[in-house]
Amino acid sequence: MTLKTSQGQTRYRAPRGTQDVLPAEQPSWQYIREQADALCREYGYQRIDTPVFEDLGLFVRSVGEATDIVEKEMYTFEDRGGNVLALRPEMTAPVMRAYLEHGMASLPQPVKLYYVANAFRYERPQAGRLRQFTQFGIEAVGESDPALDAEVVEMAWRLLHRLGLRWLVLKLNSIGDPVCRPHYLETLKAYYQPYAGAVCRDCQVRLERNPLRLLDCKQGACQPVIAGAPKITDDLCPACQEHFDLLRHYLAELGVPYALEPRLVRGLDYYTRTVFEIQPQEGGQQSTIVAGGRYDGLIEELGGRPTPGIGFAAGFERMIQALKAAGVPVPQPPGPAVFLAYQVTEEGALLAAKDLAIRLAARLRQSGVQAAMPYGDRSLRAQLRLANTLGAQYVWVIGQEELQAGAVQVRTMATGAVTHLPVDDALALLRHQSPAGATPPGSESTG
Ligand code: ATP
Ligand code: MG
Repeated sequence: MTLKTSQGQTRYRAPRGTQDVLPAEQPSWQYIREQADALCREYGYQRIDTPVFEDLGLFVRSVGEATDIVEKEMYTFEDRGGNVLALRPEMTAPVMRAYLEHGMASLPQPVKLYYVANAFRYERPQAGRLRQFTQFGIEAVGESDPALDAEVVEMAWRLLHRLGLRWLVLKLNSIGDPVCRPHYLETLKAYYQPYAGAVCRDCQVRLERNPLRLLDCKQGACQPVIAGAPKITDDLCPACQEHFDLLRHYLAELGVPYALEPRLVRGLDYYTRTVFEIQPQEGGQQSTIVAGGRYDGLIEELGGRPTPGIGFAAGFERMIQALKAAGVPVPQPPGPAVFLAYQVTEEGALLAAKDLAIRLAARLRQSGVQAAMPYGDRSLRAQLRLANTLGAQYVWVIGQEELQAGAVQVRTMATGAVTHLPVDDALALLRHQSPAGATPPGSESTG
């Protein structure tokens, strides 16, 4: 996107539906990444990264032709070699592609993988809905035991809890499998026929092409029709019913509370049986934080042997939105442990003092201590102000006297206390304070 300045020059802006993550926002991102990494360690998931673009066919095949993503939301392009590619709109298909490509079926199953990845969808941008967004997600491939479903649902629930989010609703449903779903879809279509003229345009198409997604419509006019629709859980075959009952049993064992939501379906065609979503209790359409489910048909669709799988994806931007809405404090990075200040005379910097400051800053950094220094030979007062703004823990002031004594003047910023220490003692003191030197206990504001 561009803007014209008053001088008629072109100014660029981030493309619509994208955002810059500035340093001030980074602690939230880092916090979520760290919590997600720790969670994955505990549950035995290993990280996978895949390319940002894939063959378009992968998504058409796996996400399904009659879905919003494939019909309206994909960024597709032809490269100079004539390959037809798409920026990934989601990660399940690429991860399954990698599972097959690298023969992961020969590993102990389930193979447990996780990702932190951008995805791209040409959507109408609004709060919590971007064209480039970021997902944390997991996939557990090769096992159909409902105990795994329960663990995956629990993991999503724990993720949000460990982030500090409360007042969430976990919605749970089963959407059956190829044995029982066809019958349900007939029932659903029969129910919708009388409303065919009243529902939205998209739903008229869905009624023909992808009736399950009628239940996923977000148009106001369609909501009363959805509310009265038959429930798929009344139509499950015995195998799906048993799977669902066991899942509920294990969730009870795990102490995970959920609400049955018989009209919860997923926008993606390859889902079977378990589907779930987690939302804030007071949330609108853009507030679903986690969405997941089982996709037992996907790998076969991609040319592999029939292989069950289950996973979820959580939107980073929506987690951050929820953290902000709930006022959850996020750990902030500490300021410099030491700020090196040096004496300035009327003629400018006291050269030997500045030299020593430069050398000490380098030494501190080499021993893992975060050190900062002023540039530009400003007055000592201005240097101290800067140290304060940066949140420095100590300021070491080097002047004529200190040079002669081989010492530094150490100011503890929190108390204002001032002492003089030989340089080596000052360095040793910091080394003793904490292994990394940069984060003494208590200097971090944790939530
Ligand atoms: P929605 O119904 O909100 O469009 P979806 O069904 O398209 O979501 P999934 O494809 O299941 O969502 O993606 C999983 C999660 O990824 C969502 O719950 C949300 O947190 C996040 N997400 C999806 N699309 C976007 C987007 N355009 N911008 C930001 N986050 C998104
Ligand atoms: Mg969507």
